[in-house]
Amino acid sequence: AEPTEQEEDYHNIIKDTERSKGPSDHHEFQAETRKLLDIVARSLYSEKEVFIRELISNASDALEKLRYQQMTDSEIRDSDVPLEIHIGVDEDKKTFTIQDTGIGMTKEEMIENLGTIAKSGSKEFLETISKKPGDIGSSIIGQFGVGFYSSFMVAEKVEVYSQSNKPGCQAFCWTSDGTGSYDIAEAEGVQRGTKIVLHLKGDSYNYAKEDRIKEVIKKYSNFVGVPIYLNGKRA
Ligand code: ADP
Ligand code: MG
Repeated sequence: AEPTEQEEDYHNIIKDTERSKGPSDHHEFQAETRKLLDIVARSLYSEKEVFIRELISNASDALEKLRYQQMTDSEIRDSDVPLEIHIGVDEDKKTFTIQDTGIGMTKEEMIENLGTIAKSGSKEFLETISKKPGDIGSSIIGQFGVGFYSSFMVAEKVEVYSQSNKPGCQAFCWTSDGTGSYDIAEAEGVQRGTKIVLHLKGDSYNYAKEDRIKEVIKKYSNFVGVPIYLNGKRA
């Protein structure tokens, strides 16, 4: 029989091939980052779904950067791999996964970008919150957008696998429970780009439900210039 339109559309690049290997190095978060993470993790902010907006926006940025490199550099890693964002949810494993085929990060970039607060929005957030410490439950998290760190509103553990597009770069795995520190180890089986796995907290298991995520993606994906797939189907 001919495949139906839906079957033809089914396409999932999320594979369980990534593994860390060898010894890992242990890093402490910068004091400012620790402060931010502590606030984010304890927040009672009800619209936790903004973490999806933040992760989609980072994936989209990484893909835009790769698109630019495609125009200027001749050497692109995994050059046959299309520019896409894939989200996968697993109710049994209680995970939310987002993978992009963008520019990826080197080990140094992971340390620099995921371990320190460079972002002005997050700095502003910390300043505001230190002036109004009682206001943690309000919408300021959503207003400022705490970027990648918003993952820790819903996750008790976050794994980031990344393969930089830079020639000769090894892939790495960054993991943290969002408290004081993170670990980085070499990784294998990682495709160009970044795969982020959120192991959800008990109060956030609803973010492993496909219907719920579909809704949230619709809300936040208007300005994304690449296709987004959810569990292999166009979202
Ligand atoms: P912002 O996006 O405003 O810079 P974030 O906290 O959202 O702040 O992300 C911090 C940095 O981490 C990004 O600027 C980028 O360098 C890096 N990063 C996050 N997600 C990805 C990704 N999917 N691919 C490549 N780099 C990423
Ligand atoms: Mg961001």
